[in-house]
Amino acid sequence: MTEKRMICISCPMGCELRVALEGKEVVSVSGNRCPRGEEYARAEAVEPMRVLMTLVKVEGGRERVISVKTDRPIPLRLFPQAMERVRVLSVRAPVRIGTVIEEDFLSTGANLVATRSSR
Ligand code: SF4
Repeated sequence: MTEKRMICISCPMGCELRVALEGKEVVSVSGNRCPRGEEYARAEAVEPMRVLMTLVKVEGGRERVISVKTDRPIPLRLFPQAMERVRVLSVRAPVRIGTVIEEDFLSTGANLVATRSSR
């Protein structure tokens, strides 16, 4: 049996969670003050997910880059691959906030969208 410790980031309380694992299976979660903490801990222990926030090149615009993010969390283990993909992506100005830069980003089901406009 192994134990992972983590801070729940689902609300500002920041409970300190302890997750007992048998291999890759979660046996128990403690330290959470509400069910969201257990849900977070179980997901975090098995497959951590994060929203990717980064920049993509803009062609023909005033700004050289635009801020983008995935519209839902993607597996954290894919971040190195995601950054390689983002490095070769570019978008032509003008770009409106909310524009989908790439659908089904890395086959995750998440879209990469612009978080601001660029002329
Ligand atoms: S366990 Fe519940 S109360 Fe604690 S930080 Fe997570 S969401 Fe907030």
